[in-house]
Amino acid sequence: MSYDKELTAAKKAVSLAASLCQKVQKELSQSDVQSKSDKSPVTVADYGSQAIVRFVLERELSDEPLSLVAEEDTEKLRKDSGEDALQRITKLVNETISNDGSYITSPLSTEDILTAIDSGKSKGGSLGRQWVLDPVDGTKGFIRGDQYAVALALLDNGKVVLGVLACPNLPLALASITGNAPSENAVGCLFYATVGSGTSMQSLDGSSPVKVHVSDIGNAEDASFFESYEKAHSMRDLTSSIARKLGVKAPPVRMDSQAKYGALSRGDGAIYMRLHDKPYTEKIWDHAAGCIIVTEAGGLVTDAAGQPLDFSKGRYLDVVSGIIATNEKLMPSLLKAVRESLEEKDSSS
Ligand code: AMP
Ligand code: MG
Repeated sequence: MSYDKELTAAKKAVSLAASLCQKVQKELSQSDVQSKSDKSPVTVADYGSQAIVRFVLERELSDEPLSLVAEEDTEKLRKDSGEDALQRITKLVNETISNDGSYITSPLSTEDILTAIDSGKSKGGSLGRQWVLDPVDGTKGFIRGDQYAVALALLDNGKVVLGVLACPNLPLALASITGNAPSENAVGCLFYATVGSGTSMQSLDGSSPVKVHVSDIGNAEDASFFESYEKAHSMRDLTSSIARKLGVKAPPVRMDSQAKYGALSRGDGAIYMRLHDKPYTEKIWDHAAGCIIVTEAGGLVTDAAGQPLDFSKGRYLDVVSGIIATNEKLMPSLLKAVRESLEEKDSSS
């Protein structure tokens, strides 16, 4: 099965959404940021990105039914207090579409925008095709001016078959992440993969793509590892205990969003760890695109017990204790170190 048409549509959708996000991040004001009912932040870029992705997928794939599982909904925007934000989102989306010039359309109304955002309510699952979108993954990083990603994946009968990840602030060359780079390094990466075809990366402004591959390091002493920038998203005492067991010498590389999966897919570091102490339900949009980008680049992504991630269960992932990723050579020792560290933690609590 080829997903060429879907890939072209997804790359276009994610690139346009990323350009909206870049514009917002450059001139972010306090009124662009709101708080969701779970207290996490959401910005006009999250909503605008979701509306643009829906718009482009509909235009490019008009002959296919379109189910979308996406993070945002319109509850806040439909209130009187959301009116200004809704106007701003509508303006941003219309400007982005018209600057791009690929689509002839009369300006979208606020109602069109609400409908586009609300189309992301699919329950997911194991039947048919489901698009999965995180319109701004790493919103906290986005607000801080750091890393974030627009992450879009396609599930076919519950399996991830396509992933596209825009990382507008990720350097194109690896060196600046690890600290040895010329400061004027260009940023803005687009990673993409379809099942069986490998992973590619190009610059967001359209350079020719290159195939990428995960690190082939077999000795963990030479590896570095990625974890979340936000302390609350992964247990640092556990990840440092695991790194110690493995003999990892380098300090952790902390980064927001699925940009970590992108960086891992091209071998910037060799290990990714995300471990939970309290029960936390991972969302499919936080991992679907990143997962195929790493696996098609030759890596492995599993839960902390070594089970592959199952995206067929609905909007959530059923993972045990967290998520890890690395190459085939390091996975057995990583799993062993994870298991031992979790056991030590359990026995001491
Ligand atoms: P990252 O930047 O890799 O930490 O991932 C950002 C994502 O973490 C957000 O999109 C949230 O959905 C998710 N998140 C929020 N709270 C938690 C938590 N307590 N543990 C793990 N992930 C979380
Ligand atoms: Mg997210």
